This record gives sequence, structure tokens and C-alpha cells, in this order.
Amino acid sequence: MAEKKNFAAVLREKGDLRLEETDIPSPSQNEVMIAMDSVGICGSDVHYWTHGEIGDFIVKAPMILGHESSGIVTALGEGVKNLKIGDRVAIEPGVPCRMCEFCKGGRYNLCPDIVFCATPPVHGSLATYYCHAADFCYKLPDHVTLEEGALLEPLSVGVHACRRAGVTLGSKVLVCGAGPIGLVNLLTAKAMGAAEVAMTDIDQGRLNVAKKLGADYPILADTRDGKEMAKKIESALGAMPDITIECSGAPSSVQTGIYSTKSGGVLVLVGLGPAEVSLPIVNAAVREVDIRGIFRYANCYPIALAMIASGKVDVKPLVTHRFPMAKTIDAFETAKTGADGAIKVVIKVKE
Ligand code: NAD
Ligand code: ZN
Repeated sequence: MAEKKNFAAVLREKGDLRLEETDIPSPSQNEVMIAMDSVGICGSDVHYWTHGEIGDFIVKAPMILGHESSGIVTALGEGVKNLKIGDRVAIEPGVPCRMCEFCKGGRYNLCPDIVFCATPPVHGSLATYYCHAADFCYKLPDHVTLEEGALLEPLSVGVHACRRAGVTLGSKVLVCGAGPIGLVNLLTAKAMGAAEVAMTDIDQGRLNVAKKLGADYPILADTRDGKEMAKKIESALGAMPDITIECSGAPSSVQTGIYSTKSGGVLVLVGLGPAEVSLPIVNAAVREVDIRGIFRYANCYPIALAMIASGKVDVKPLVTHRFPMAKTIDAFETAKTGADGAIKVVIKVKE
């Protein structure tokens, strides 16, 4: 048998991403070792590569990137009972402390001690072999592909946002921004029974994709005037949306989100733009528009998996580009520039 080797996509510092040979990890107690299969590139991976930081998280030491991932269990640490060798699993990248009030209350995404893949100083999963807490790995049914497993990560963001928004049968929803995150919100809102979904973007190409994926009203954001955009959205939907899910982070789009949302409705902030933004806050206050944040997800992987396994949601069209691991830098370039209509770029670790 050929000797096993481990390669990983290591961000040494801002701008310096390399494929390097590293030690093969071994699973600790309650962990499994996974032979990685598919790893999607997220905007945050690209941002750490190009900027070396996001907010307070700064890359100070070499860090392996990647957190949208799946693979096959190859070894079990002591105490693992829920999985066996050969299981195909999706990996939920954030492992919380399980002890604090947030963990105990079920909102473990708010755990101050959460360890999240590829958020400095924690290594990510873009490697040949990777070890992870077994209870944060989800066994995939045979008919769900490992690539779909990797896409449970962004889909879980959509599930969490739509649940926080209260999307339900008959909802009229506006999703701002048609990147991967806006698109998973579109798919989830539809699966949760939204009657109509309007979607905005500044890029007509992305709106065309949104339309193919089921957006009823793709609307070009051709002005930064939030009130003007709100009028366009109302006339397309025939009413103001009950719910707006902002997935661009652009300040003008958050402003549009407030002006657009029906009185008594909900605006969910998914997009993370500048730390401080000027907002028509009195408009939101006097019309009782609830503004809710979301941070990643909690308890959403099983739901996202059930949605895919049952065929309620099809995430496959989101994947526009696939690269072998040896072409990791090209994959990151494609994700960065969005060249050639790139939406979700996936690295195939196991060719
Ligand atoms: P993306 O950059 O691929 O997509 C953003 C889209 O918004 C682009 O298509 C862009 O053209 C569009 N856009 C820009 N300005 C706009 C405007 N004024 N009006 C309408 N659309 C506009 O990014 P993504 O991967 O889809 O992620 C979207 C956002 O969600 C990012 O800000 C990301 O940081 C954030 N995010 C947040 C969480 C969370 O837990 N809160 C999780 C994942 C991603
Ligand atoms: Zn905790």
C-alpha cells in the first residue's frame, strides 16, 4: 500500500496561500478522522486570503482554510459511537463548548468559546485528512452526494435566516443580494412555503441565476436610493414584502431593506458589510419593523440535510466550478473574481 500523505491549503499570511505537505492528524477522544472529499470556497476564505483578517479575527500564524466540507470517515477516536469507518459525512465546522448558557439554551452559534474551522487561529478542513468532533459530523444517506454534503454549510445559513425571519406558508419575501448566500435563502424560503420571492442584485448575471433557481421577481438594484428601490420592489411584488433577508451587506441595500419591509414585518441582516452603517432607523421604529441579526446557524444541519435528501431543495445548480486540490490557487482566483459566472467553487480533494 502506498504511504499516506497529507496535503493542506495553508494560508501562511495575507496573500500567501500554498498547498503544503503536513502531518497526518490523529483523532482525539470523540473525534473522527476524515478523508476529505469536497470543500466549497466561501467568501470568508477568500477574504482571509486577500486581507488576512475579518473584523477582530486576524491571521497571525499559518492557518489551513476551508469550512464547507464533507468526506469519508477513516478512523475513530476513543468513545465515538455515532459513526463508523466508511461513513460518508457532512462536517458542521463550528464546535461549541457544550457547557455555557448559550450552548445549554440551544443557541450554540453564540457560544463565546466556539471553535470554528478556518477562523483564526483554528485550522480549516481543506486537507487530505482532517479530524473533527464526531457529533458535529452528519452521516449522508446513499443518494445524497458528498458535494451536496459540503453545501449543507451555506444551506444551513439559509435555514437559520429563514427560521429567524419566520418565513411561512404564503410569505412574501425579499432577498437582497443573489450571491451563494442570497440564493440559499431563496431556495429555503421557497421550500418553507413562501408564496413569492423578489430578489435584488447589482449584477444582472446573478439575477439571471436567481430567476433560474425560482426567484419570482429579479430586480436590478440600479439606484442607491432605498426609497426608490422600495417602490420598485413593491410594484413588482404587488405589495410590500412581509420579510426581507438582506444578503449583500451593502449599506444602501440595508437601507432598502428597511424601507421595503411591510409595517410589522421582519428584516433579517445576513450580509456583513461595514461595521457601522447609517440607517433610517426611525422609519423602522415607527413602523415596527423588527431588525434581527443572524450568526451562522444552530441546529440547522439536520434540517438542511432533510431538505436535500427529500428533494425539497436542490443545491446542485449553485456549483459552477470544480477544481482538483492541486489547482487550489486557481480555484481561489475564480472564487475571488467571480470570473466566468462563478457562484460556488468546489475543490475536489479526492480526485
Ligand atoms: P457575495 O459577495 O457572493 O454576494 C453578495 C451579492 O450582493 C453579490 O452578488 C453582489 O453583486 C450583491 N450586491 C452588492 N451590492 C448590492 C446592492 N446594493 N443591492 C443588492 N445586491 C447587492 O457573498 P455571499 O457569499 O453570497 O455572502 C453574502 C453576505 O453574507 C456577505 O456579506 C457575507 O459576509 C455574509 N454572510 C453572513 C453570514 C452570517 O452568519 N451572518 C454567513 C455567511 C455569509
Ligand atoms: Zn458554549
